[in-house]
Amino acid sequence: MCFPAGRDRVPVVSPVVIVGTGLAGYSLVREFRKHDTTTPVLMFTRDDGEFYSKPMLSNALAHDMAPDRLASADAARMAEQLNAAIRTRAEVAAIDSAGSTIQVDGASVSYSSLVLALGARQLALPARGDGVDGVLTVNSLADYARYRVAVANAGHIAVIGPGLIGCEFADDLRSIGKRVTVIGPDATPLGRLLPPMAGAAFRCALEDAGVAWRLGVTVCAITRMDGACLLELSDDTMLEADLVLSAIGLRPETDLAVAAGLTVRRGIVVDRYLRASAANVYALGDCAEVDGLVLPFVMPIMHGARALARTLGGEPAPVTYPAMPVQVKTPSCPAVVSPAPPSAAGTWREEAVEGGVQARFLAPDGALLGFALIGPAVAEKQKLSVQLPPILS
Ligand SMILES: Cc1cc2nc3c(=O)[nH]c(=O)nc-3n(C[C@H](O)[C@H](O)[C@H](O)COP(=O)(O)OP(=O)(O)OC[C@H]3O[C@@H](n4cnc5c(N)ncnc54)[C@H](O)[C@@H]3O)c2cc1C
Repeated sequence: MCFPAGRDRVPVVSPVVIVGTGLAGYSLVREFRKHDTTTPVLMFTRDDGEFYSKPMLSNALAHDMAPDRLASADAARMAEQLNAAIRTRAEVAAIDSAGSTIQVDGASVSYSSLVLALGARQLALPARGDGVDGVLTVNSLADYARYRVAVANAGHIAVIGPGLIGCEFADDLRSIGKRVTVIGPDATPLGRLLPPMAGAAFRCALEDAGVAWRLGVTVCAITRMDGACLLELSDDTMLEADLVLSAIGLRPETDLAVAAGLTVRRGIVVDRYLRASAANVYALGDCAEVDGLVLPFVMPIMHGARALARTLGGEPAPVTYPAMPVQVKTPSCPAVVSPAPPSAAGTWREEAVEGGVQARFLAPDGALLGFALIGPAVAEKQKLSVQLPPILS
């Protein structure tokens, strides 16, 4: 709390400050307002603060979605809905956790609680050549707007990264008639999520739909060539494409936290109450490492936002995560994955089912710890989900 100068010293409550207006920032304020309608909330974002569904970016071409159709509310509308002040195009440059202030646009702003909802950034492509600068990535609505324009003029698109997001973009591009080649080092797509039989079935289904694969290789260099690009692959072959999209992964946005001396490992380290290593500082969403887990997905954000809203409202609540299966948005081959906890011991049991694969990850005692369902086997999602243990109980 701070006090203005003057005879009648009326206390002025420092706001809850939230840095980031992505799903994490906005979901938190929505939940917080269910508990507290009066405490001032001040949000900062370096973008324009539009509210949009980021998961839709990787299947928006199929629905011919222009960027403005993906945004459901601008910052002014969100500010009104949430009873919050929102400062857009305002990059938070530093945090002074001892003084409970942040630095924005050369000014110092006090906070009662500070929530970092900074998201994640694309990993830089480890390749050489004058074409690397022109490689696109899509991790925001503004990125999507640029990508959509570039795609309109491209015939063949190379997608680097056969993970969840790369495969979704590939299937989306294919659906609008583009030629697509997906490149990556693993033997099968979604290599971190699918065991071999499931990976092979997924690969075949997308191939039948028209996606080409260059697996078991990496991209060493990209050279510009008469409006197109020449990709040099690690097996000494070349691939020509009109456009290159990189989907090799994200890393939590941690620079601000590192500079402020907060504890950071893969993400900003927080406990089950989403508390960082300085008093009254919290982290939520893709930037956070919660109890050792970095889970850059929608469901962990929703569970975290609900718990943190209660904590900020004066009723400390630890976050709990049930099992949270993720649907892969590839209409050519429906797939659902629910990975086992990273350190879990067990083995995959894969079974071919009519037109697909059911894979179950079983503990030594036979308990179900995770699954991957491909094709018609996705119908088993609910039945298997209820058997899974919670991720954080
Ligand atoms: C293409 C794509 C498809 C996806 N599909 C799925 C899916 O199907 N299912 C699923 O569960 N998950 C999916 N995800 C993941 C999911 O979308 C993310 O987990 C979620 O949107 C992250 O929200 P966030 O608020 O943590 O981060 P972001 O949305 O990245 O928001 C970060 C915010 O922080 C702000 N910011 C950062 N640094 C500063 C600073 N210094 N100063 C001011 N502002 C700052 C940014 O401006 C932004 O407002 C997908 C992700 C992508 C990219």
